[in-house]
Amino acid sequence: MTKGKRKRIVILGSTGSIGLNTLRVLRLHPDKYQVLALGAGKNIEVLAREIQEWKPRKVAVQDKQTARILSDTLPKDTSVEILHGTGGYVELATMSNVDTVVSAMSGAAGLVPTYEAVRARKQVALANKEAMVMAGQLIMAEAASKGNSVLPIDSEHSAILQCLRGHNREDIKRVILTASGGPFLGLRPAELTKVTAQQALKHPNWQMGPKVTIDSATLMNKGLEAIEAKWFFDLPMEKIGIVIHPQSIVHSMVEYKDGSIIAQLGMPDMTIPIAYALAYPRHLEIDAPALSFGELGSLTFEPVDTEKFPCLSLALTAARVGGTMPAVLNAANEVAVQAFLQERIGFMDIPEIIRNTMAMHEPESVKTLGTVLKADAWAREKAEGFLAPKPQKAGA
Ligand code: MG
Repeated sequence: MTKGKRKRIVILGSTGSIGLNTLRVLRLHPDKYQVLALGAGKNIEVLAREIQEWKPRKVAVQDKQTARILSDTLPKDTSVEILHGTGGYVELATMSNVDTVVSAMSGAAGLVPTYEAVRARKQVALANKEAMVMAGQLIMAEAASKGNSVLPIDSEHSAILQCLRGHNREDIKRVILTASGGPFLGLRPAELTKVTAQQALKHPNWQMGPKVTIDSATLMNKGLEAIEAKWFFDLPMEKIGIVIHPQSIVHSMVEYKDGSIIAQLGMPDMTIPIAYALAYPRHLEIDAPALSFGELGSLTFEPVDTEKFPCLSLALTAARVGGTMPAVLNAANEVAVQAFLQERIGFMDIPEIIRNTMAMHEPESVKTLGTVLKADAWAREKAEGFLAPKPQKAGA
C-alpha cells in the first residue's frame, strides 16, 4: 500500500459475524480503508443494506437464483456488478486493485477463494480456519513464494502473533491456546448426549456464527485452531498446548525456553483481532469495550478433558496423521454439525460420525488443491452416509 492511500478491502463473508464486525471497524476509519467488493451467501437483506452503505463495485452471492433476487431487490440506479458461486468469489478475491482480502466465509467453501487471493499476491486476513485446516501447507507455501502475508483474525492466533513479536522463534518452547470450554464445560458425559442445538448455540463469552459456536461446544474449534496454529506459525503439534480458560480474557500465550510466558489479554470482542489483522503491525482505535481488571475478578485455568470432548482428540489425531486427514476431519465435522443444527442427530453423534469417516480414509499427501478438494468431497459423501436413519440404539 502506498503511503497516504486508503487500503482497498474485499470481504468474503460480509453478512456473517466476522464480516459485520469488519465493517464496524472500517466504519470507524473511512480515511484508512475503502471497500471494493463484498461476498455473501444468501443473506440478501443484509447484503442489500451493505451495498447501499459501502457502494462496492462488485458483489458475489452463493448462486444464480440468489443473484437474480438481489438484483430485483436493489434500487434501479444501483451501480454494482453481481456475481455468484465460487467463480464469483474468486473474481472478488483476485481483483487487480485490491490490497487485502478478508476471508470470513464459513467452512470449506472459503478455501478456493482464499487460496486464489494468496496466489494473486493479496494480503489475506483469515477468519476462515477451515481453509487453513484443509490446506494450510499449500496456502502458507504459496504466500511465502509470493512474499505476501496471511494474517490471522482468529483471536487465539492474533494473540500468538502478538506474543511472538520482538522474540526469536528459535526460543519458543510452546504456544498455549486458551479455550473457553464452551457452554457444556461443567456437564457430565451422560448429560452431553442430551443437549440440544438451542443450548449449544448459547456461547458464554463470544457472539459468533452457528458453525463455530457448535464447534466451540464440542471443542472441535480448539482442535481446528491447533491445526491452524501449526501452519500459521510453522510449529510441530508437540509444541502446541491447550488449556481451558472459561473467562476468555487471556486469548493465548507463548512460552519461551527460559519459562517466560507472554500472554495477550483483552475483552472477548472479535473487532480486536480484526482490527489488528487490518492494521498489522499497528493497533487501531476501535469501539470495543475496555477491559476493567477491577470488575473482572479472577481468571481461572484448568486442564482440558479430551475424553469428555472427543472431537478435540479426533482433531489432534488428524493433525498427527497429516496429509488429507485434516480435510476429512473438517468435512465430516461440517456435515455432522449441520445435521445437529437440523436436529437430525444428537450432540455426541458428532464425534462418532467424524471418527467413522476418518476410519475409512486412506490419507494421501497434499500436493495440490485438487487432492484436498477430492478428500473433502469423499468425506462429505461418507459422513452423509452415516446420517441415514438408523435403528434405535440401546443406551445411546
Ligand atoms: Mg478462536
